[in-house]
Amino acid sequence: MSKQYSFFNAVCKSFDKAAKFTSFDAGTLEQIKQCNSVLRMNFPVKIGDRIEVVKAYRVQHSQHKLPCKGGIRFSDMVNLDEVMALAALMTYKCAIVNVPFGGAKGGISINPRNYTAYDLERITRRYTTELVKKKFIGPGEDVPAPDYGTGEREMSWILDTYMAMNPGEVDAMACVTGKPITQGGVRGRREATGLGVFYGIREVCSMPDLMDKVGLSTGIDGKRVVVQGLGNVGYHSAKFFQEAGARIVGLAEYEGAIHDPKGLDVEAVFQHRKATGSILGYPGATNITNNADALELDCDILIPAALENVINGENAPRIKAPIIGEAANGPLTPEADEVFIAKGTLVVPDMYLNAGGVTVSYFEWLKNLSHVRYGRLEKRFNENQNGRIVDQIEKLTGKKLDDTQRLAIVHGPDEVDLVYSGLEETMIVATREIVDCWRSNPDIQDMRTAGFVVAINKVGTIYSQLGIFP
Ligand code: NAD
Repeated sequence: MSKQYSFFNAVCKSFDKAAKFTSFDAGTLEQIKQCNSVLRMNFPVKIGDRIEVVKAYRVQHSQHKLPCKGGIRFSDMVNLDEVMALAALMTYKCAIVNVPFGGAKGGISINPRNYTAYDLERITRRYTTELVKKKFIGPGEDVPAPDYGTGEREMSWILDTYMAMNPGEVDAMACVTGKPITQGGVRGRREATGLGVFYGIREVCSMPDLMDKVGLSTGIDGKRVVVQGLGNVGYHSAKFFQEAGARIVGLAEYEGAIHDPKGLDVEAVFQHRKATGSILGYPGATNITNNADALELDCDILIPAALENVINGENAPRIKAPIIGEAANGPLTPEADEVFIAKGTLVVPDMYLNAGGVTVSYFEWLKNLSHVRYGRLEKRFNENQNGRIVDQIEKLTGKKLDDTQRLAIVHGPDEVDLVYSGLEETMIVATREIVDCWRSNPDIQDMRTAGFVVAINKVGTIYSQLGIFP
């Protein structure tokens, strides 16, 4: 892996490749591509009896729609280039899935494993204070969410800090998403990114022309899947694939990987790792000590769900999977893309495939602004109405449904039902829009370029209509 690798340049390279298929002038394209605002911080935190200076960032890539939206990453690999790239991807992602936000991203350059929960809380709260001071957070300004190394716990610290600094702000809960349910979170957010990955790949796999290209039958049932990263995104993706009848033949974590052509049980592997501290040694599976080797296993669908730049010009030629679903952000470099275009591998791109998180974050934000749980108003009404319809049908036909059949029809939507259904619709529509764009132009070589064309057209249209403030 090259030391000079720039993730932001890689995103710009994909952008430029796609921009040729749009009709915007050079200035508008440049405005879309660049990061609008960059906040770079160095703040002191007392860790034990010493003072540590923590490096952190928040980048707002585009404010063509407000608020800006994007996760916060905790990793010692975080740097400005990475945060800029991830913020840019958020702009394109939101545009593709019709989430009315601009793109942003945040990062703190720490390895969370080296800190206690108490230290992490102090770092997170101090980071939030800096964001408040600089107006880089707020329900109408910029709304963070979880990303690599963060989760509900960190989001609740962010919320609490924001609320303490903005007393009486009625919509304050909407300043961050991915919160615990008890603090204004929405049901279904935790698994949303993994579920969105599953819906997106399922839709791609239902398209006979695309499956013909890669020599596979349609459908998910029986497909062999390898997943890299058993964190929030990877774990849930793997679980949804398994539930749909796919065989999880390989799982990789940072300490190593395991392989079983007969199939692994995701939950059992997860519990084994929790109990032993390692994915290795799972009964019946073969250990792979170099985790990157798992990417090269024989399978139908490869899901990198850890970090960027894991598949590059060096290892791409050895990847056997005919379908790669980018659950992580930026797991493939532009060099890898070229290898896969030449090999005919179908790469389903990050900038829409992992949009489940931001889509359900949007639902959470709306819930917070409306101050009411989804389904609260209509659930009982629908159940009563459906019950009356079933009663009438039973009366007219003289037949009776058993309790299970009746419940399946009568059931009114809970919050999680509505969230799943909104996410499913979003991912299906986005997949079809990108594939239609790809099909309509024979010069577009891959799905990533088609995705960028869709995104640039949407963002560019808004910039053109906005005009330039003098
Ligand atoms: P996470 O911290 O929950 O999990 C990441 C997992 O990957 C960890 O378990 C880590 O140990 C593992 N890992 C790290 N290096 C690895 C390696 N070399 N090989 C195998 N495993 C490795 O993070 P996450 O939220 O699941 O995010 C993963 C990716 O998905 C990131 O690229 C993130 O930007 C992207 N993403 C996350 C969300 C979200 O809602 N959390 C949304 C969109 C995109």
